Amino acid sequence: MRKNIVAGNWKMNNDLAQTESLISELKNQQKTSNAEVMIAPTFTNLWHASEALKNSEIEVAAQNMHFAESGAYTGEVSAEMLQSVGVKTVILGHSERRAYFNETDDLLAKKVDAALKNNMRIIFCFGEELADRKANNHETVVGNQIKNALFHLENSAFKNIVLAYEPVWAIGTGETASPEQAQDMHAFIRQTLANKYGQETANAMSILYGGSVKPANAKEIFSKPDVDGGLIGGAALKAQDFFAIVNAF
Ligand code: PEP
Repeated sequence: MRKNIVAGNWKMNNDLAQTESLISELKNQQKTSNAEVMIAPTFTNLWHASEALKNSEIEVAAQNMHFAESGAYTGEVSAEMLQSVGVKTVILGHSERRAYFNETDDLLAKKVDAALKNNMRIIFCFGEELADRKANNHETVVGNQIKNALFHLENSAFKNIVLAYEPVWAIGTGETASPEQAQDMHAFIRQTLANKYGQETANAMSILYGGSVKPANAKEIFSKPDVDGGLIGGAALKAQDFFAIVNAF
């Protein structure tokens, strides 16, 4: 079902003590919007976070996972392992994973399958680079990222998928897509889904925007009809800023 969602991607920030302290600040914030709220701490802090946030309005997500169940994959973490520490949602395909860890569409398709097989919800990220946008190629790039990693799925799988459009040129740069650019791309994404899976499935999808969302610009971006929330990096590391974004709905 389409919902408003604000998810905080903590990336490789916050050790255990910092995680404890940010979580207690988050628990003290007042939520006045209908948005679903999620945070994605590092693997080492997922157990603590899911215990600390039990029975709260904040869900815990992972930033990545491997596609295999277990085995000789040094340094990796499986869907089963995430589930075992109370994590039911995983971010896949973040542009930093694609750029620095060579995650391809084919690899992501396998991760998507593994997450769904384990009844996990996925926040699936994609987005074009600056050169793609300058060449007016952004829709083709984004369309291909979605098709290559997701279009082998059955229609019913999409109830467990949230999409996150994150133009690479706007992540961590302070530069945001304009609300109009975000809306245009989100409408294109919804249409791409509708063409393959039908309007009902497309209309039920939550499509988040990510890329330098801050308290000052969240309201305008979230006011666009096809923007259903945000994936937040830098501003998710400050409890007040994060909740100002959550409450921008
Ligand atoms: C992100 O990492 O997904 C992100 C959107 O980061 P930032 O908000 O810092 O641009």
